[in-house]
Amino acid sequence: MPSDSGGPQVVIVGGGFCGAALALHLTRLAARPLGVTLIEPAADLGRGIAYAGDEPVHRINIPAARMAVFQDEPGDFDRYAHAQGAVAADAAGLQPNGDFYARRTLFGDYVGGLLTAARAVNPAVSIDHVRANAVALRQGSVVTDQGASIPADALVIATGNPRPTLPGPLAPLAGDSRLIVDPWQPGALSGIVEDAGVLIVGTGLTTADVVAVLGRRGHRGAIVALSRHGLTQRRKQPGPYQPQGNFAALPGDTALELLQSVRAVLGAGGPAGVRWEDVIEAVRLQGRAIWRRLPEDERRRVVRHLRAFWDVHRYQVAPPVDDAVRAARAEGRLSIEAGTIQVASAAADGIGVAIRPRGRTGVETRRFGHVVNATGPSMHALIDGNPFLADLAAQGQIAADPLQLGLHVGPDSRPIGSASAPLPIFALGLLARGQFGELAGIRELSAQAAEVALALVRAFEPDAPLPARGDLLVIPGRHATAVPSRIAEPTC
Ligand SMILES: Cc1cc2nc3c(=O)[nH]c(=O)nc-3n(C[C@H](O)[C@H](O)[C@H](O)COP(=O)(O)OP(=O)(O)OC[C@H]3O[C@@H](n4cnc5c(N)ncnc54)[C@H](O)[C@@H]3O)c2cc1C
Repeated sequence: MPSDSGGPQVVIVGGGFCGAALALHLTRLAARPLGVTLIEPAADLGRGIAYAGDEPVHRINIPAARMAVFQDEPGDFDRYAHAQGAVAADAAGLQPNGDFYARRTLFGDYVGGLLTAARAVNPAVSIDHVRANAVALRQGSVVTDQGASIPADALVIATGNPRPTLPGPLAPLAGDSRLIVDPWQPGALSGIVEDAGVLIVGTGLTTADVVAVLGRRGHRGAIVALSRHGLTQRRKQPGPYQPQGNFAALPGDTALELLQSVRAVLGAGGPAGVRWEDVIEAVRLQGRAIWRRLPEDERRRVVRHLRAFWDVHRYQVAPPVDDAVRAARAEGRLSIEAGTIQVASAAADGIGVAIRPRGRTGVETRRFGHVVNATGPSMHALIDGNPFLADLAAQGQIAADPLQLGLHVGPDSRPIGSASAPLPIFALGLLARGQFGELAGIRELSAQAAEVALALVRAFEPDAPLPARGDLLVIPGRHATAVPSRIAEPTC
């Protein structure tokens, strides 16, 4: 059971990056006793799916110097990586310009370390970790699968990415050990026979990770990566970026106009051209404002027609991972194809997959030793696949957002419909994407966690003065840091 802080109790369900970031921001902001309990089945807080495991070729896709949990501590993770000796010991992550693409597990270590330090910094705030899955909310208490009932004065849902599930055409393969449904599970690829042919379903970041892991293990069999469009992620280009374009104040507010204005900025650079990275950076920085202005139908058009193209430009692949993918292609070990799977069947001598190549009517059946599902989080199972969310939905406290991007939440990050709940409820991270549009990178996620922390502290300490710029929070062994007087939109 959580310790008694003597103050109100914030229960956070999900102790991945977002849950941990909220606890950190609360530690900075709360002046009076406050209990923070993270319910998370994993042993470590702050890792979630992305920063767990010990796979050395799983790397963060932005340089360490730009991974800031606190906007007023730029470069802190980079300093941590150097101080830990991780940069010196990991030459493969270091680029010629000095950018360091850290192993994802190192970022998990870093966030865990911040939490440990934060516990010592603000004695008014107690942070507890209950190792369990939340399964229900009953009379203001969160019930876990271990039988505990944890009273809450506020509830924050930070359950993050739903795990991948089997796409329909692969359903006949269910239960076959040659099919890897969830490549995010640590060690998921260890059973792949090294000279077997592998079909990877998907061509995005997870596919790049899978190819890099197979390359590290010396896989010799042919690898085919297949998706509808066959689009692959762009390689992360060195900064600094010079954001180009103003897309937040378009007169028409349509998806088409957004696309046209992005194209116009890209084409307006004269012979020297405009770097696409700078235009994408401008869209990222203005993402919230752009999304806010688009009516629902236009948001739907963005999701349906532009998202695949946005994703491959916005979520770029770390250069060391891209190098592994390029090497596999150059050596003829990997082909990237566009097409759709019609049906799959398992036989003793392999898995037969009927594929219709994009733009053709005919279907070709090919045989693979293994099939890896790299289609990403299973958004359609977001609520039903998580007993806690299913329970909240059954009570009418949450619902899917109209575009199926997450939960239906308001601009205050509170689920629409949760006003009748016995306590305030908030949703963090990709769960709130339908409202904010762009919520995936560490900077955006941390900024939203800071906003929710501020709302919670304001609710619990309405008469307390907010920390003024210049107040100091000193984390032992680290530099003194000014507490921000307001929570800014992400700027770095
Ligand atoms: C494989 C992968 C790699 C990524 N790499 C990068 C990257 O390099 N750079 C970047 O900026 N972003 C990256 N991301 C984006 C990533 O989503 C965010 O960076 C961030 O980690 C999301 O954190 P989260 O806390 O919202 O979700 P998650 O990390 O998914 O954490 C949610 C947590 O909630 C817990 N949980 C779920 N249901 C319950 C329940 N009922 N009870 C208790 N606990 C529950 C889970 O156990 C999990 O630990 C990556 C994402 C993935 C999936």
